[in-house]
Amino acid sequence: MHAFEPFSEAHGPGTRAVLWLQGCTLGCPGCSVPETHPRRGHRVGVDEMFAQFAVLDGWIEGVTITGGEPLQQRRPVLRLLARLRAETSLPVILSTGYTWDEVVRMPGAAALLDRVDALLAGRYERGLRLDRGLRGSSNRTVHLFTDRYTPEDLGAARDAEPAGRADGPEFS
Ligand code: SF4
Repeated sequence: MHAFEPFSEAHGPGTRAVLWLQGCTLGCPGCSVPETHPRRGHRVGVDEMFAQFAVLDGWIEGVTITGGEPLQQRRPVLRLLARLRAETSLPVILSTGYTWDEVVRMPGAAALLDRVDALLAGRYERGLRLDRGLRGSSNRTVHLFTDRYTPEDLGAARDAEPAGRADGPEFS
């Protein structure tokens, strides 16, 4: 993992725990978090990571998982999402640089989409940058799987906190 912030006021509606995964090969021009691109990071197990979220259940609105590229660590991310879904009431927003068409062709796509409340998909495009909201650039798409959030919730959210604000783990 690259970083963990337990009480972020950005990265989605309400106060959220944010996990930045380490490692991304997608290379979007203008990416604001190039420090998340190398694969090497702080290694952490899924159970340890889950425990950091679980103690926050009832204290925060939800969880945001971003990167780096979460879906380049798909297996541990799916295991973490399964535990969050089964053992907490925390809704999850996951942001990926993969497009929707790429996501739905990935192994485990059905499980992924069953375990998140909202998915933001697509490469960041500098020329289409948005000043507000979680999408980052207007080409990126929003996919909602529960009634927990609306497109307006995600469009109004601040996204001003830099990655790496807090120290935290990378999946091993
Ligand atoms: S997918 Fe995200 S982390 Fe990766 S290059 Fe694009 S904006 Fe940066």
